[in-house]
Amino acid sequence: MKTCLIGLKIEKLAEIVTSLGEKPFRAKQLYEGIMLGKELEEMTNLPKSFISALSENYTAQGVKIVKKLTSKDGTQKYLFALNDGNVIESVVMEYKYGKTICVSTQVGCRMNCAFCASGLDGLVRNLTAGEILSEVIVANRDNGGNKDKRAITNIVLMGSGEPFDNYDNVAEFLRLVNLKDSLNVSLRNVSLSTCGLTEGVDKLIEDGLFVTLTFSLHAADDETRNKIMPVNKSHDIADIIAAAKRYFNASGRRVIFEYSMIAGVNDDLKAADKLAELVRGFPSHVNLIALNYVKERGLKGTDRSKVKAFCDRLTEKGVSATIRRTMGEDVDGACGQLRRKYLG
Ligand code: SAH
Repeated sequence: MKTCLIGLKIEKLAEIVTSLGEKPFRAKQLYEGIMLGKELEEMTNLPKSFISALSENYTAQGVKIVKKLTSKDGTQKYLFALNDGNVIESVVMEYKYGKTICVSTQVGCRMNCAFCASGLDGLVRNLTAGEILSEVIVANRDNGGNKDKRAITNIVLMGSGEPFDNYDNVAEFLRLVNLKDSLNVSLRNVSLSTCGLTEGVDKLIEDGLFVTLTFSLHAADDETRNKIMPVNKSHDIADIIAAAKRYFNASGRRVIFEYSMIAGVNDDLKAADKLAELVRGFPSHVNLIALNYVKERGLKGTDRSKVKAFCDRLTEKGVSATIRRTMGEDVDGACGQLRRKYLG
């Protein structure tokens, strides 16, 4: 398989360029072409002979669009093929302030949460930093953006996979996407969601990668969380709250708690009261969402009126909480609906 150039720094590209007998300044042109999502053959500012020599062992394609579905609400779901034939999904959502891409970090997922489609096949493999970056580059290009005028302004690591189960590649992706000559996305505009692998939180702190950190909490007591999230056996609610506090203290950024409401499981007002107790005392925000339907999982989302009552209860108790709009559900592009696909 050819080596993918996405994710290589300019210095590394310069080595490759000079090894093929070209001048080092070609590395910058190559890097710019890569960041625009161009295929090698499209880089017409580079000598043809150089491109053909380069193409023998390298490719500028990390992910390729296999299919794109657009939802009634404008949400775009991409099926991306990786160079090894695996297929992943990413979603682009349009908000008033710009477009946000939700990227996958793994093919499949090993966390096996009881409500989520991503873990149905287990973990297939980690994505490389270049592949994650490629999801952003390709969607940016497809949405009419370039390097100076990005169509995609915000990134959320909330697609398939558990980012902290692939820490090194995710951290490298965060560094790469933030480079001035790359897509120059401020980490303030990046959100990372974890099911609670709290060692990843401490690594982010150590590495100074201060994104907006989101914890998938989904329960206010361990008994309930154990039933729906196997990860709770090793990383329980107390661990998560402690890590959230450490993150706030180190970064000064308020943390977000995701709470997907499942009918009859975690949605009574007693749970709201317990949740309010848990998140008291440091700046945080609770995002409520009614569970999206995943047919193999069989769990149902909480009714609107009950979600609203839960939210009101949290607000009464002084918790900052909002109900999140579900987007892209008609194309199976909503939270928890992304899954591994096969090319067939
Ligand atoms: N593994 C990470 C990143 C995935 S983010 C994490 O767990 O945070 C995807 C978010 O959607 C998580 O909060 C996840 O718990 C939630 N989710 C999963 N399945 C869902 C469903 N069916 N309906 C609503 N939210 C769901």
